[in-house]
Amino acid sequence: MIRLPLRLLSLALLVATGPLRAQDFPVDPPRRPSPVGPEPPPLLARPEAPIPATELVTPFQLLDRFVLPGSRQTLQWAPPDGLGRGELPSPIIIAHGARPGPVLCLIAGIHGDEVNGIEVARRLGQEVDPSRLRGTLVVAPIVNVFGFSRMSRYLPDRRDLNRHFPGSRSGSIAARMAHGFFNDVVRHCDALVDFHTGSFQRTNLPQIRANLSEPSVLELTRGFGNTLVLHSEGTRGMLRVAAVAAGIPAVTFEVGAPQFIELQHIEPAAEAIRILMDHKGMLARESTDAAAPDPAPIYFDSRWVRTNASGFLFAEIELGQAVTLGQRLGHVIDPVTSERTDIVSPFPGQVLGKALNQLVLPGYAAFHIGRLTNEQQAVLQAADPAAAGDEVGEDPAERPATERPELERE
Ligand SMILES: [Zn+2]
Repeated sequence: MIRLPLRLLSLALLVATGPLRAQDFPVDPPRRPSPVGPEPPPLLARPEAPIPATELVTPFQLLDRFVLPGSRQTLQWAPPDGLGRGELPSPIIIAHGARPGPVLCLIAGIHGDEVNGIEVARRLGQEVDPSRLRGTLVVAPIVNVFGFSRMSRYLPDRRDLNRHFPGSRSGSIAARMAHGFFNDVVRHCDALVDFHTGSFQRTNLPQIRANLSEPSVLELTRGFGNTLVLHSEGTRGMLRVAAVAAGIPAVTFEVGAPQFIELQHIEPAAEAIRILMDHKGMLARESTDAAAPDPAPIYFDSRWVRTNASGFLFAEIELGQAVTLGQRLGHVIDPVTSERTDIVSPFPGQVLGKALNQLVLPGYAAFHIGRLTNEQQAVLQAADPAAAGDEVGEDPAERPATERPELERE
């Protein structure tokens, strides 16, 4: 029973190698199908090389738990002092790479109704393969579980969590929550991206908002491929402002409108984060020979264009569209008199954000137009506070934004 297959094998090897010997190849001959059985398929991917001792990483510690290198875990964060009693805890997805690298934090759902960012963060947290990752991805997709469970931007006391970072141990519910999250999670990050959307009835083209006068933040903005970047200092209490003050480069990533799942914005935003992780050496992407993306368009000067009439707003432009000086962006129709008032662009630029069609009052900020510049110019202007136009990153309608939480944007 054993001899027969062996003899067959010997015969088969002779048959297979005979012609090759006759051709007398000076080097290794080409591989031929073996008649003794199917040849194993070519390896689609080389097995991971053993990790050198110098690259061994220790478990990642967060929230009193340890996540082993090369593994993923979903931990749970709850606000301090029992604030989360009766509520769902907030999930924290951790993909801890098998090799050393930076800790990148993706934060979403600080405003509970801004679901596009929640979906972007969730996708990335689940798709990353920790065995191939360098560094650590920390994803907090739903920080404000109170608001999320009610599809609301705010905390139960109507406070805006993104005006209270880094928080305090003995302040309001928002300050305590911010303090807990900042110390439990944010302080472990080497870089941070905080996802948001336009505020009520407004939508934003996917865009990075960042304080370009901070060198570490400027460097971070270079990693998102060709996602546009808008300079914005931010205001006190925002997560990204508090993180930068604590030495952690941070940006806001605006993605579409609140309350909707908009795949046309979600997928480009997720891809921008993949590009960022590649840029930071965390992912070794397959297509390294692809052409380098165009540099990101940078906007420093931007303005919200307001209506001067009341009635129904009808937009005539799309997000991202280039517009010329004086071009009609939309119009307002008085529903009683049918009087029509046009809204025109104050300068040539690009539509970065817009209000959805709705009933508006005079003074309502309807279209957000940005003027393209280059990085060097933007950095120079960012260093000169007098050069700043509208505080575009925050409230399109009024300042100080903190007095009018219903109008805040980021
Ligand atoms: Zn927001």
